[in-house]
Amino acid sequence: MPQDRPVLIAGAGIGGLSLAIALARRGLACQVLERRQDPSEAGAGIQLGPNAVSILTRLGVAERLEPTVGKPEALRVHDGSSGRLLAELPLGRWIAERHHAPYWVAHRVDLHKALREVAASLPGVKILTGCEVASFEQRDDRVSVQVADGRQFEGSVLTGADGIWSTVRRQLWPAADLPYSGKTAARAVIPSSEAPAPFRASAVGVWLSPGGHVVHYPVRGGEEIALVAILKEPWPGEGWGLPVDRDALLGRLRIFSNELTSFLARARDWRRWPLYDPEPLAQWSRGRVTLLGDAAHPVLPFLAQGGVLAIEDAEVLATALARWSADPEQALAQYEQQRRPRAGQIQAASRRNGWIYHLSGLPAFARNLTLRTAPGERIMALYDWVYGWKPSVV
Ligand SMILES: Cc1cc2nc3c(=O)[nH]c(=O)nc-3n(C[C@H](O)[C@H](O)[C@H](O)COP(=O)(O)OP(=O)(O)OC[C@H]3O[C@@H](n4cnc5c(N)ncnc54)[C@H](O)[C@@H]3O)c2cc1C
Repeated sequence: MPQDRPVLIAGAGIGGLSLAIALARRGLACQVLERRQDPSEAGAGIQLGPNAVSILTRLGVAERLEPTVGKPEALRVHDGSSGRLLAELPLGRWIAERHHAPYWVAHRVDLHKALREVAASLPGVKILTGCEVASFEQRDDRVSVQVADGRQFEGSVLTGADGIWSTVRRQLWPAADLPYSGKTAARAVIPSSEAPAPFRASAVGVWLSPGGHVVHYPVRGGEEIALVAILKEPWPGEGWGLPVDRDALLGRLRIFSNELTSFLARARDWRRWPLYDPEPLAQWSRGRVTLLGDAAHPVLPFLAQGGVLAIEDAEVLATALARWSADPEQALAQYEQQRRPRAGQIQAASRRNGWIYHLSGLPAFARNLTLRTAPGERIMALYDWVYGWKPSVV
């Protein structure tokens, strides 16, 4: 791959930055074109399963991130309306030993900062901000990218890592639909000092109800708690990370137990993310252009794997581009062949989890009975295929 024609990456999010680092570690040059002037992240949490942490370790990001993360011992599942504990599933040492990497929970700002700092420190990585990819053109052995302000960039390959509303995907597959799932996430972060003791535990808490569910976990080394409330509601309008009417939200959260709602009421600054649930794309790449992360496969966050998938994609794509450096189209074909089935499986499992979380009546009773009686290790073992994923040699 000629060094004067770098790999172009649209988007400096989790996926784009992970790809930049993975390429640089393999000696390949890249330019990351990011729309925002200040590409910082929203105040929200992210769970990173062992399948992500093992890659972040190889990329040299984990050691920078580790001082800020939460290391939950368990995943505690509650009945949302009564507050009753239904199951305690092992994380901590159990999952770290099983999959040779730990389960972490992080503040998104910390993850993004660690990725950005590592990327910026590596030779061969150039990050350009205020650089909105508008369109691209493919010619023989190169791709040229036009940016909204008129600038043009040339590369050997273009990767659209530009998120759920990807411009690159829209040019590749203009007919691809992005339907609203009927559910919106509200997120907030609060200081742990404001939380009652049970919510400060080193655990991921999940509260299930037919109308939605709530997830919380400690971040910033236990100093703060990240909250997510997912509720069924009509489409609230476009845009991610917009402020939410707090009183209206708290009113709707009354479907949950008093213990949980009085905890949630302590958060002031709630923001919303309408969730989308498209069918998988039949193809990600065309010629020298491909997609990665949410641009390729937006997933519902009910398995906490969307960002993790973007990190996995980055590792596989960088390996393929290094291995097939003389034939980028072959590299993209190999990448897609390995990643599309995996993304499709995670997409389907995330959807299924949402369905299980929001059961009502007898099916909810049966779910709760199973959770109360089955050993936690056995339930977690059902997710070995998720957390134990390893890149196979391309
Ligand atoms: C409520 C909620 C909870 C979640 N929880 C988890 C979790 O616990 N664990 C997990 O793994 N995942 C989780 N996810 C999913 C995760 O956030 C996404 O999958 C992840 O952010 C995708 O990363 P990405 O790099 O593909 O896209 P993004 O993070 O969206 O980054 C895209 C980047 O591209 C830039 N961009 C956009 N358009 C252009 C353009 N035209 N030109 C240049 N730049 C552009 C954007 O500014 C942005 O910086 C959650 C999602 C939601 C909504």
